[in-house]
Amino acid sequence: MSEPDPARIQDRKLRLRQVFLDQIPERLANIRAQLAALRPGIEQPEPLSLLHRTFHTLKGSSLSFDLEAIGKAADTAERLAREALDGQTPVDQDMLARLDEQTQRLEQLTREAAEEIASPSSPLPSAPRAEHTALGPRTQRLIYLCDDDPAIVQELSTQLASFGYQVTAFASIERLQAAATARAPDAMVLDIVFPEGHTAGPKMLRRLKSITGHPIPTVFISNRNDFAARLSAVRAGGSAYCLKPVRTVELIEVLDQLTAIAPPEPFHILIVDDEAQVAELHAAILEEAGMIVRQVHDPSDILHQLAHFQADLVLMDLYMPGCSGPELAQLLRQIPGYLGLPIIYLSSETDIDRQFAALSVGADGFLSKPVEPARLVAQVRLRAERMRTLRSLMVRDSLTGLFNHKTILEFLATSLSAARRAHEPLSFAMLDLDHFKMVNDRHGHAAGDQVLMALGRLLRQHLRDGDLVGRYGGEEFAVVLSGANAETAKQRLDALREHFGRAVFRADEGVGFQASFSAGIATFPTFADAASLQEAADQALYQAKKQGRNRIQIAQAPDASDASSG
Ligand code: GH3
Ligand code: MG
Ligand code: MG
Repeated sequence: MSEPDPARIQDRKLRLRQVFLDQIPERLANIRAQLAALRPGIEQPEPLSLLHRTFHTLKGSSLSFDLEAIGKAADTAERLAREALDGQTPVDQDMLARLDEQTQRLEQLTREAAEEIASPSSPLPSAPRAEHTALGPRTQRLIYLCDDDPAIVQELSTQLASFGYQVTAFASIERLQAAATARAPDAMVLDIVFPEGHTAGPKMLRRLKSITGHPIPTVFISNRNDFAARLSAVRAGGSAYCLKPVRTVELIEVLDQLTAIAPPEPFHILIVDDEAQVAELHAAILEEAGMIVRQVHDPSDILHQLAHFQADLVLMDLYMPGCSGPELAQLLRQIPGYLGLPIIYLSSETDIDRQFAALSVGADGFLSKPVEPARLVAQVRLRAERMRTLRSLMVRDSLTGLFNHKTILEFLATSLSAARRAHEPLSFAMLDLDHFKMVNDRHGHAAGDQVLMALGRLLRQHLRDGDLVGRYGGEEFAVVLSGANAETAKQRLDALREHFGRAVFRADEGVGFQASFSAGIATFPTFADAASLQEAADQALYQAKKQGRNRIQIAQAPDASDASSG
């Protein structure tokens, strides 16, 4: 993710500051009206708390926009209002006079600031869209493979190509070096031992780096499992080390990471702040850092927004009309789905006790306004990242990284509602590995796990963007194909089935073997709800197994099957 661009943020900040400054006179007029309503010697918590909040907000926003003099005067006024509110100082003529004096001072300072700041006339630059660092489909990823054993070169080339990589193989490190100097690949797979020496591979990588000046992501493969070989690989800048015989799935996993097949989704941040310009400023900072930001200016909108925006984190103001930050945090914590949602307060509250009280309702952090852009980005990123990790552990299966049973069924329900609204078809498929018990029995449980992982990856990477894949049970998978009718779904799964059938897996003893799966497809609107889709897909899967496995079966309409069975 990119770092915030200070110049661009500053630009937006100046524009927002102007809007904010233009609004201050109206706010001060409100303060005047609130002051006029106060009567000496009478307890009046509500108007006092409104007055306090107005000063507090004015302070926070002014400081955020570098209007220090106004911020300071607002701070003094806020303290007065706080003393009155807490009953420390009586609301007498003297107090009213001091509040009035501070208000006058604010009016004066606002006029001065307005004269000082020439209004910038350039249009507000819009935030750049999060830049896509996606590197395109895997077919465009170029891998250089180098091993002096032709058998290994042959086999790995075939395997990598079958997983969609573009592979160029070299039998000698000399040739590899020449090619990599001419055109750097996206990654390299490199042996350690060559006729030139016991660590000739790593030595070549170091030479290459000194020639080209930049590192090429490299996976070492070797029979050597000793410390010296591993250390030489690390020192040469190797990113991973795979022992021979190389497990294709492991190698692919590493290469996918190194060549960043799936760039991380940008973080989704929800900002809750009644001050539109301040919210906008913080949004600008986070957007510059590549995050996707939504703003809520009225706290009562938050549930609606959260329901439609998968937020990784909520950045929350402390003082807002209608509902305070801590109240809002507590409200969210009482909803099971939002129990773990990170909440960071962003406020000009400087009182440590009050900060602590706000945190005690289950918020995760406190940042003071004005906040340094780099600090804001760092704090938000840190917590959002942790949230992502936790969330993925909760909804994903640990072996395959696919959605777990519960999650895929939840997605089936949501996708089905969407299909209904859009009058579009939807297919639900259940996949099951064929004779998987035998795979385990013959080649060991670890080899079985490799097959499960391989099928998981294949499904994840070859289905379309909107398709959802889950591990339904032990060796069963479920796929939701939105917009696909039964024939389309069958075509796509058949292509995957053929692809999967070509992969060669390797057991511990080095024995190669292949695997297959069967699937049943049920389609909406032929089947009207989630329960009948599941049942029909399961029945169709059973039919596919009965008819000999390694095939895809479409579930027939309920009345058609009634007719055939009757
Ligand atoms: P069929 O073609 O009829 O589906 O036969 P099958 O052998 O695949 O079906 P069966 O239900 O008899 O066996 C499923 C096997 O899947 C049994 C179980 O040990 C294995 N299995 C389930 N989960 C895992 C797992 O996480 N790892 C491994 N290695 N095996 C698993
Ligand atoms: Mg506020
Ligand atoms: Mg099975």
